[in-house]
Amino acid sequence: MRAVHFHQHGGPEVLEYHEFPEPQHGPAEVLVRLEAVSLNRVDLFTRNGWPGLKLDFPHVPGADGAGRVVELGEGVTQFAVGDRVVVYPNLSCGLCEACRAGLDNLCRHWRLLGEHAWGTFREYIALPEGNLLKMPEGFAAVEAAAAALVYLTAWHSLITRGNLRPGEVVLVVGASGGVSTACIQVAKLAGATVYVVGSNRQKLSIAARLGADLLIDRSKDADWSKTAYLAEGRQGVDIVVDNVGTPTMPLSLRAARKGGRILTVGNTAGPAIELDNRLLFGKHLSIIGSTMGTRGEFATVMKLVFQGKLKPVLDRQFTLAQAAEAFDRMEAGEQLGKITLTVD
Ligand code: ZN
Repeated sequence: MRAVHFHQHGGPEVLEYHEFPEPQHGPAEVLVRLEAVSLNRVDLFTRNGWPGLKLDFPHVPGADGAGRVVELGEGVTQFAVGDRVVVYPNLSCGLCEACRAGLDNLCRHWRLLGEHAWGTFREYIALPEGNLLKMPEGFAAVEAAAAALVYLTAWHSLITRGNLRPGEVVLVVGASGGVSTACIQVAKLAGATVYVVGSNRQKLSIAARLGADLLIDRSKDADWSKTAYLAEGRQGVDIVVDNVGTPTMPLSLRAARKGGRILTVGNTAGPAIELDNRLLFGKHLSIIGSTMGTRGEFATVMKLVFQGKLKPVLDRQFTLAQAAEAFDRMEAGEQLGKITLTVD
């Protein structure tokens, strides 16, 4: 099988696309022929590397994928050859206290597909059957692959951790990325009013299409937190979704109302954040971090995707062989929605 991989961290030049032996499935594992995968920011971070990250090279990135079951390991009970499936990217032990409580996202041995283990950017993958979910026969693999990680992340953050309730006002910082577009849709589906801050008009047009109630263009409105604050009658918003980090978090704290929540699942523009503690205690704010979600949440959110109630925004589609180009597009921040790759 062919696989996108790298032998060292670095820029686009380290990505290679070569032949590897087909993976062997173990007991209770399923061999899947992937049809489509999607790119997430974690793939870029993993390729670039960070201090303390230790990978066995070569490494294959990719957390998202969808395809068809081609072989079953001994003892597999939930799948048959020919089933169409989407990948659940959390790898967990199934035995620790958190796993036994159904919180496999908090597993003490938690690993992410494509980060701590070989990922999906290849033709075949062998996974425990718990890491697969059936998808309807007619559903496009590319849409399922685009949806999985970002909707799981958005759902867990907004609904489970953020306890979003109908009628609340959510401010999403970011208009067009995979997680931002998923957050806008999940918040709308949950009955919230959604404000979106975007870096330009083109990106905000996507948020508008998804039903955002107020668009704030930060290329024209540097003080967007004040705009959001004023739009809510000088009270601020109930929830701010901030996955940008360094440049935006101080403003996000200002945009929140008394008792408000700040949700974060990542930091596309830098991890170090400065907090004005007076805002934190003075406004009774909660900052709530999370990453991914549970297996149960994955089933819940993917059902909504399969029903068309949540619909991933698709940016350009590449092939696996064009992975370097796809990474470049994400690194440049040009994408409007999810970048996908087909596995031919
Ligand atoms: Zn565990």
